[in-house]
Amino acid sequence: MVQRMTTKRVLMGPGPSDVPTEVLAALSRPTIGHLDPVFLRELDETQEMLRQLFGTRNTLTLPISATGSAGMEACFVNLLEPGDHALICRNGVFGGRMAEVARRCGAEVTLVEAPWGQAIDPDEVAEAAKSRSFKVLALVHAETSTGVLQDLAPFRGIADSCGALLIVDAVTSLGGVPVEVDRMGIDAVYSGTQKCLSCPPGLSPVSFSERARELVAKRKTPVQSWYLDLSLLGKYFGGDRVYHHTAPVNMIFALHAALRLALDEGLERRYARHREQAQALYGGLQQLGLDLPVEASVRLPPLTLVRIPEGVDDAAVRAKLLRDYNLEIGGGLGDFKGKAWRIGLMGASATPRHVSLCLEALGHSLES
Ligand SMILES: *Cc1c(COP(=O)(O)O)cnc(C)c1O
Repeated sequence: MVQRMTTKRVLMGPGPSDVPTEVLAALSRPTIGHLDPVFLRELDETQEMLRQLFGTRNTLTLPISATGSAGMEACFVNLLEPGDHALICRNGVFGGRMAEVARRCGAEVTLVEAPWGQAIDPDEVAEAAKSRSFKVLALVHAETSTGVLQDLAPFRGIADSCGALLIVDAVTSLGGVPVEVDRMGIDAVYSGTQKCLSCPPGLSPVSFSERARELVAKRKTPVQSWYLDLSLLGKYFGGDRVYHHTAPVNMIFALHAALRLALDEGLERRYARHREQAQALYGGLQQLGLDLPVEASVRLPPLTLVRIPEGVDDAAVRAKLLRDYNLEIGGGLGDFKGKAWRIGLMGASATPRHVSLCLEALGHSLES
């Protein structure tokens, strides 16, 4: 029992990442009321810091009280009504999940696909956008299932060409690579706390443009999810602080602490740290003779895909890393199941110490 309570891992999988002691300390602060003025001041500050990380002035920027997938669901349930058309890009697990969520909202989904491990081709999306008008165009910025970073720049123009709002999954990019919501013209974006923000899992920061907010206000049908209805959430998180649900007070303390650490570090410096540690990891893996299937120009610094060499037992290596080094890395998903590992360098886990531990542990495990 004691053993279980004190197990400390080094988290280099696809999330959660290592949580700094300042953030753990914030979690264990005394719980206070969700309408207590002290808490509300911290909630205001948390929302303001989230705007800085998202690169937005959107009023409706808030932490949804659930994990990243709930943020995804919040974007789709609010912006789609039954019979609407959605144009969705899929090159991994999370684009696929978006399509599934959109279908469950009653939308007709048109998919633009790329092979796993490659970026979406914006020209193909532009072509699909000519076929009809769409209510939303959705894509994943940082595809955690493959380690591909998508350049968002072309997509505002494509969304405009078919009358769509632009939805972006920034779960693994926020805090690790620049997201730039306003500059990229993103209308709805969601993230998660346990990836590059290095906070435990449990909250999903989201942000909605004025245009998205207006669209929700003009809906013909009520949002089918009461819990995720933006117009209700906006009454609590938007200023009046009208009770909707009990905000998870301690998780918000933790997010506040995690955002403070990110801003104190400096965002540019933080993004550079992720890039530099990723470069060091790529070099070390290649020295071990390992192949990185994702082309260098679209690699996502916070998550690296590594091909498992012929004849190596995936599960045995990962079990050994966990047992002998307390080190967690991720297995492959979908097309890469059993064929690749996923190594995370997210937030507090993107340090030289993490890179060298991982290289040493992998080196030893592959020898034996
Ligand atoms: C982790 C992740 C999600 C889902 O977040 P959960 O917190 O697991 O619900 C969605 N999209 C991407 C890109 C992710 O990496």
